[in-house]
Amino acid sequence: MATILDFEFEAHTNPIAADDRTALLANPGFGKIFTDHMAVIRYSAEKGWHNARIEPRAPLQIDPACAVLHYAQEIFEGLKAYRLPDGGAALFRPEANAKRFRESARRMAMAELPEEMFLSSIRELVAVDRDWIPEIEGGSLYLRPFMFASEVFLGVKPASEYLYIVLASPAGAYFKGGAPSVTLWVSEDYTRAAPGGTGAAKCGGNYASSLVAQSEAIRNDCDQVVFLDAAESKWVEELGGMNIFFVMDDGSVITPPLGGTILPGITRESLITLARDAGVDVREERYSIDQWEADSKSGKLREAFACGTAAVVTPIGRVRGRTRDFVIGNGGPGILTEKLRTDLVAMQRGEAPDPHNWLQRLF
Ligand SMILES: *Cc1c(COP(=O)(O)O)cnc(C)c1O
Repeated sequence: MATILDFEFEAHTNPIAADDRTALLANPGFGKIFTDHMAVIRYSAEKGWHNARIEPRAPLQIDPACAVLHYAQEIFEGLKAYRLPDGGAALFRPEANAKRFRESARRMAMAELPEEMFLSSIRELVAVDRDWIPEIEGGSLYLRPFMFASEVFLGVKPASEYLYIVLASPAGAYFKGGAPSVTLWVSEDYTRAAPGGTGAAKCGGNYASSLVAQSEAIRNDCDQVVFLDAAESKWVEELGGMNIFFVMDDGSVITPPLGGTILPGITRESLITLARDAGVDVREERYSIDQWEADSKSGKLREAFACGTAAVVTPIGRVRGRTRDFVIGNGGPGILTEKLRTDLVAMQRGEAPDPHNWLQRLF
């Protein structure tokens, strides 16, 4: 069983015309348009990983008895390819995504894709579709590796066949200019993850179960939902798809500790490192919703923000719930929040030094 596969390349016979591509790339939005190709690798218990291909992006034919449609063995990743000032392109910490993808697979009892194959699938796909990386300010090529149980079988067991695919989707700046502050809704009826559950795995099921709470947030004129811990309904954990940070009046920073119920975000880890590099005291410790409200009202808490690959850093201006309503700072983006966002974005785009070697050059 080879650990590195050679990718067979089948070019799209009818790719999007260059003029049409240019028009699409001027205002790509997020997750709406896709490049001409996709990477595909198959797994079966007998053959191991095989049939690695870069092929035309096209609909899949799925048997209705395909295991994922019934028992939801599915995981994914999200990372971006950025244009560099010299016209090249780079990925930001892709080896961290490769490792997390394996850890997610293990939790969901799925086959673990070797990290080298994960990385080469992305490199090969971006090499083929390199003209799809937007040149616009704040643009990037969002990469979506994912894997699901493809065995045709209704018995309940870990599947013996999997399909791994990478899609590439040009994305504009999540927010043009500085990121506006969002209002969070504190979910009291729903939790995202419980001890022993799948909260630390990047699986579609976590998102499926969070959507009813997200709808409740929208119904209450909030932008995003923030979840509390399942055991005590007391400790702030994270948003539906972003980690959370608090900035105190003494300049120190708090973020909830990992421990099985929080997704180990790569943006989270990078911001902890960047803040510590800048001399900020960052503590990974539990912070309760009551404390958050009290500290916001007393002024002990100055800023709060959420973070993740898609939106990078999003300031939190206000928090509401059935019995709560409080404003953070003056309701607008905080100073440290803006600095961390600007510093991280500059590093991701190769506009600032990269002391931790986080950028992997593609070309
Ligand atoms: C992906 C994700 C994040 C952010 O992780 P990044 O690696 O920073 O993109 C945070 N929370 C959840 C639930 C996620 O799925």
